[in-house]
Amino acid sequence: MRTVYADNAATTPVSQHVVDEILPYFTEHFGNPSSLYTIGQTAHRAVTKARQQVADALGAEQSEIYFTSGGSEADNWAIRGAAALGAKKGKKHIITSKIEHHAVLHTCAALEKQGFTVTYLDVYENGIVKVEDVEKAITDDTCLVTIMYANNEIGTIQPIAEIGKLCHEKGVLFHTDAVQAVGHVKINVKEQNIDMLSLSGHKFHAPKGIGALYCKKGLRLPNLIEGGAQESGRRAGTENVPGIVGLGVAITDMVSHIDENAKKVSALRDRLFEGASKISHSRINGDRERRLPGNFSMCFEGVEGESLLLMLDAKGISASSGSACTSGSLDPSHVLLAIGLPHEVAHGSLRLSISENNTEEDIDYILEVLPPIIKRLRDMSPLWDHIMERENNKA
Ligand SMILES: *Cc1c(COP(=O)(O)O)cnc(C)c1O
Repeated sequence: MRTVYADNAATTPVSQHVVDEILPYFTEHFGNPSSLYTIGQTAHRAVTKARQQVADALGAEQSEIYFTSGGSEADNWAIRGAAALGAKKGKKHIITSKIEHHAVLHTCAALEKQGFTVTYLDVYENGIVKVEDVEKAITDDTCLVTIMYANNEIGTIQPIAEIGKLCHEKGVLFHTDAVQAVGHVKINVKEQNIDMLSLSGHKFHAPKGIGALYCKKGLRLPNLIEGGAQESGRRAGTENVPGIVGLGVAITDMVSHIDENAKKVSALRDRLFEGASKISHSRINGDRERRLPGNFSMCFEGVEGESLLLMLDAKGISASSGSACTSGSLDPSHVLLAIGLPHEVAHGSLRLSISENNTEEDIDYILEVLPPIIKRLRDMSPLWDHIMERENNKA
């Protein structure tokens, strides 16, 4: 049976190039980067090189990159850190959006319990925050605006540079969870007025468990982990050297192919949209244009998302109903509800996230398999009967 991996927003395979580059750091170059002898210094040099690679990919400086265990840790650090700095000045208001990743939403919720107030901005039907809404929400009390770069479920891209500019005019810190965007769209933290940015290696062909926080020079976030002098003493603990090396290699590979990958991947994605839109009672989730090159997200009425995923899996296709973190729960995704979908429609969602490893044959296979699966599910669905009845009554 053909197998198609179309869930690259959940995670990606580590590229062969990355594997080749990191293997020596498990064995030959296993030294502790803090040690003075040669093998330690070899590891230290590798960490420094990777830090420079990550900095170059973002238009940042080496000293502004802090390695973390991934995107969730970077989000937690940035938000809790900025909140602590704000609280010192008596500013306890945070602005975010309704469609953030749970790493951001749950951190904000935890801060609400500690006496912070949080504004959750609407994203409208297109899944995009309005800059003027950010402006209206900012008060003298606001210490942080945290808005994701690109959404993990519907792929919509936010007006990051404009929000950053506004925050700088108002003297408010700006953080962006760019986990879905890094390596896939062009980013420059200086030009886009970003103070803090979170990224995660496993979303762009580096290993799981490694990520980074960009934190602009001069911004003294409280230390995340006390201990040794690693990460300038702000996040102690012996470095994950193979992971860090992999992050540097992967981000460099992605950025050096960014235009050609985006062209290829968006063409594949568009072919999917075109084919799947022929299915009746279907709709595209989020803005059709302002989205990640590889993101396909649609809802099919009268279909139960989990069953759809299981039937696609039986045909060798790995897909998602939205976010990996919400699957297994019966509540529809907060993102799909935020763009105004009714509960029963949001339940019939399908996200396919395409990478440069996918081929036209993969897409054609999905488009061959998908319509009959949807038909079968609708044939079994009382909800679909109800939809049809309602339409016949209208006619
Ligand atoms: C995957 C993801 C995260 C979490 O990153 P981890 O490295 O898995 O902790 C955070 N935000 C977004 C938008 C993501 O897609």
